[in-house]
Amino acid sequence: MTNFTQKMYEKLSIQENVYNYCNNIELKLKDRFEQVDEIAEYNQLKVLTAMRDNKVSDIHFAATTGYGYNDLGRDVLESVYASVFNAEASLVRPQLISGTHALTIALSGNLRPGDEILSPVGKPYDTLEEVIGIRETKGSLKEFGITYSQVDMLQDGSIDYEGIKNAINERTKLITIQRSKGYDTRPTLSVKQIEDIISYVKSINENLICMVDNCYGEFVEIIEPTDVGADMVVGSLIKNPGGGLAPIGGYIVGKEQYIENAAYRLTAPGLGKEVGATLGLNQSFFQGLFMAPQIVAGALKGAIFAANIFESLGYESIPNSTESRHDIIQAINMGSEDGVVAFCRGIQAAAPVDSFVVPEPWAMPGYDSDVIMAAGTFVQGSSIELSADAPIKPPYTVFFQGGLSWHHAKFGIITALQKMVDNNSIILN
Ligand SMILES: *Cc1c(COP(=O)(O)O)cnc(C)c1O
Repeated sequence: MTNFTQKMYEKLSIQENVYNYCNNIELKLKDRFEQVDEIAEYNQLKVLTAMRDNKVSDIHFAATTGYGYNDLGRDVLESVYASVFNAEASLVRPQLISGTHALTIALSGNLRPGDEILSPVGKPYDTLEEVIGIRETKGSLKEFGITYSQVDMLQDGSIDYEGIKNAINERTKLITIQRSKGYDTRPTLSVKQIEDIISYVKSINENLICMVDNCYGEFVEIIEPTDVGADMVVGSLIKNPGGGLAPIGGYIVGKEQYIENAAYRLTAPGLGKEVGATLGLNQSFFQGLFMAPQIVAGALKGAIFAANIFESLGYESIPNSTESRHDIIQAINMGSEDGVVAFCRGIQAAAPVDSFVVPEPWAMPGYDSDVIMAAGTFVQGSSIELSADAPIKPPYTVFFQGGLSWHHAKFGIITALQKMVDNNSIILN
C-alpha cells in the first residue's frame, strides 16, 4: 500500500493493525477478484452489444408524459433488456415500483382462479408471503382463489425432486423459483441448479410456467435464468440491474405471451405495454444497466472480502470464504448483540449519505425481534448501495450487500471491523 493511502485511512480513524489485517486478506484474494472481473468484462460486453444492436440513441432519453404513447426510449429499453436476458420480450417500468410489485404483477397477470403456485425451494421472500396469501392479507392471490404449495429444500441444501413430483397436480400452473436465499439461511441457487429444476418440472408437464425471482442475482454469473429455460424472470431496478442510477423500477423478462399478460395487469386489459410515460427516467435506466456489471463486481468483491476477514476471525460466514457466488448477499453470524450493532454502525459511518447517523435496534413491524439497519444511500432503500441489517437475536446474523464501488465496500467493511475492535467485540493482535 502506498503511503498516501495509508495516511488517508489513518485520518479516517482506522488503526494500523486493523488496516494491515484487512490488507493482508485482500492480497490473498487477487485470483478470486480476477475471476469476478472476468465475469464483469463478459457481462459488460453483453450489455454493450444489446445497446449497439438496438441502436440506442440520445433521442431515447427524451421524457414522455401523460399516457406515454409512442415512448421510443421505453420500447427500446425493453428490447435491450430482452436482448441482455436472451428473452423474447420484457416489461421495464418506473410504474413497477419495487421488486415485490414486479413479482405481484408477474403472478397476478398470469394466474387465474383455481390455479396453484408451487415453490420447489421452500418459503419465498417475506413480502411474497402476503402477496400469495401464505400470511392472510387483503388483496392476496389467495382471496382470488389462487392456492399455494411448497416443497422445502432437503436438510443438506439439495432439491427434493421426489417431493416436487408429488406436489405437482392438475391445478399447478406456475412454479416460482427464488434464486437468492434473501434473508434466509438456505443456500442461494446457481443458474445451473435453476436449470436442473426447470428441466425436471418441464419433464413432468411442459406447460408449467417457470418464473424466477432473480433479485440480487443479475450479472453475478455470465448466464441468467432465461438462458436456461425460465419463462419469466423478475427483479428490482434498485438492486443489481439499475446499476445504482435507476431511482425506481422493476423488470419482468421472458416469453412474449407472459410479458403481455403481465402488462395487461400493470396498466389495463386492452392497453398493456402501449402506455406508461417514463417522465425522463429512461437515461438513468439505460446508463444504470450499462454500469451494472461493474457495480455488481464491486459489490461481489466486498462480499468476498468480508467473508474472508470475518471467517479468519472465527465467525461463520454464509457463503463461506471460498464458495462460488450466485448473488451479492453476505451473511455473517456475529455471535453477540454488541458485535452486530458495532458492525452496522461501521457500515453507516462509512456511507456517503447520512454518515453522521447512529443506527439503533428498534421494534420494526413484521419482525419477531428488534432489528438494526444501516443504509446511507443516494436512492432510498437501494440495496445495490452498501447496506446492512440484522435481527437482534441469536446467532446475531448480519446480512449485508451492495457497494457502488469496490473501494467504498472495502472502506465500509474495514470501518465495521474497526467499530468492533473499538467496542471490544473483537481483539486484534
Ligand atoms: C429484494 C427482494 C425482493 C423484493 O424486492 P423489493 O424491491 O424489496 O420489493 C423479492 N425477492 C428477493 C429474493 C429479494 O431479494
